[in-house]
Amino acid sequence: MSQNAQSAEVIVIGAGMGGLACAARLARAGVNTLLLEQDRRVGGTAGGFFRSGFSFPTGPVGVTGPDYIDSVLKDCGARELPEWARSHFRLVTEGLNLVISQPLEHLASELIRLFPAEARGIELLTEGLLKSVRTLRVGQTPEAEILGGGSAEAHVRKFLRDERLVRLFASQGTESPSSSWPVMIRMWDFLSESGIWYPSCGVHGLPLVLKEAFRGHGGRLVTGQRVQQILINHGRVQGVLVTDGELVTAPIVVSNADYLKTIDELLPPDGLPKAFRGNIGRRSLSGTVLSVSLGLNRPVPPIGEWPEPNLLYSSKTSGKHEPWFERLDQPPTFDSDEVWIHRPSVHDPGLAPPGKEVVVLRVNASYETFERFRGRKRAHTGDYYPFKKELGERLVARASDLLPELGDAVEYMDVATPLTFEFWGHRTRGSVAGWAWTDTSLEDLSAPPVEGLFIVGLCSYSQLFRGGMGTSLHSGLQVASRILSKRLPQP
Ligand SMILES: Cc1cc2nc3c(=O)[nH]c(=O)nc-3n(C[C@H](O)[C@H](O)[C@H](O)COP(=O)(O)OP(=O)(O)OC[C@H]3O[C@@H](n4cnc5c(N)ncnc54)[C@H](O)[C@@H]3O)c2cc1C
Repeated sequence: MSQNAQSAEVIVIGAGMGGLACAARLARAGVNTLLLEQDRRVGGTAGGFFRSGFSFPTGPVGVTGPDYIDSVLKDCGARELPEWARSHFRLVTEGLNLVISQPLEHLASELIRLFPAEARGIELLTEGLLKSVRTLRVGQTPEAEILGGGSAEAHVRKFLRDERLVRLFASQGTESPSSSWPVMIRMWDFLSESGIWYPSCGVHGLPLVLKEAFRGHGGRLVTGQRVQQILINHGRVQGVLVTDGELVTAPIVVSNADYLKTIDELLPPDGLPKAFRGNIGRRSLSGTVLSVSLGLNRPVPPIGEWPEPNLLYSSKTSGKHEPWFERLDQPPTFDSDEVWIHRPSVHDPGLAPPGKEVVVLRVNASYETFERFRGRKRAHTGDYYPFKKELGERLVARASDLLPELGDAVEYMDVATPLTFEFWGHRTRGSVAGWAWTDTSLEDLSAPPVEGLFIVGLCSYSQLFRGGMGTSLHSGLQVASRILSKRLPQP
């Protein structure tokens, strides 16, 4: 690290979306800000990776709230804003084939046509859902009780009987619901009302816009520099210790590292009051996924005329849902799972060389299934690689039900497992979507009780109330505002 990096007014650990937004906003206000990122590239889980001429997203393939994201980019001093394209989702399963990202009233009409016996329940549920969406819109306090609190499944079952409808309204798909109803209300707002969108710079281009804004305002970014410890003395932040043992002092440290890693690994064991640790300890994390990125030697059309770039496919919905990772005594067929097929090249042909296409397949996964492959000396044991390759091929075979030419068109395949999201995404147990979606209230967790310490990113709120990217960005800007409001005017 360079000599002039040894002190700063604010140190930000991690250049994910939350860290970048916070750092860029502070730099724009003239704060001497040092951003330390352990990877060689910025963006964290919102970045991209490049292989064999193809460009793949590591995480999001679409985001919610483009107006909000534009306003964050502007606040951070970005010079150019992206154009946005709406990204729709089609659900294809036993007896159902419909666009679920259309406005709720349209979706309800289509469902009433398909399930006339459930018409009254669909009408009442949709009416209440729309009312709640308006109540919960960003900036308003969520009141779980007013909204019908509790689990999404329990709420939806008050109105509907058909299992496909229950799962659709309570999980936005075909799998067993697990979210709270307040979280699901937001998810319907994102999916169907305000929409999911794709930026012209690509999702992985958004962190680069923030990086340029940060550096353009004099911010110092050091990549390839891991923070080992946050130093605390008498309840106050002193600075950080980086991997090569160097001490960098600052009165304020903002961590964009994974929330649990921040409190369990970066802070000293007695760094936080017990009550705060207890509050965090009772929370569980959201789940994880298996993600297969494919570089295709030609674009492959789906069966039927489906222009939507996102397909949710499940070959069966009736009967018991048994996720693939609960049946590992037999080779997985994914026949009981919902497979998400994303075709980002529809929005962004530049992701693939001319005449080729990028497709991403995802399915829910369990961390426990992969934990046994963690090696003692190496990151993974040898049998991990054949296992994940087999999973990739089998998932391609399942997706070929909808994209029959897929298998023959695969030129490049990368399989990311929960261990990939743990090792490369730096997220505890490979969790991809913040805290578990069972919470019914919205809590701000970005200011732990240590003077000068803040935590931004995916887990800095108890719910993803602006979606994943939006919540991370929001936390970064909010923490920057708090820091700026306490800062003495500079000479
Ligand atoms: C598969 C997947 C799909 C997703 N889909 C969506 C979606 O559709 N829509 C959506 O909005 N969101 C989605 N998300 C979530 C989205 O990626 C996140 O909300 C957002 O990018 C997370 O930002 P963050 O600020 O929490 O930082 P992170 O992405 O977690 O980045 C943290 C950064 O900190 C760095 N770091 C950590 N520890 C240290 C250390 N000790 N020293 C230095 N640097 C450190 C890391 O290297 C990393 O760069 C998805 C995520 C995944 C993984």
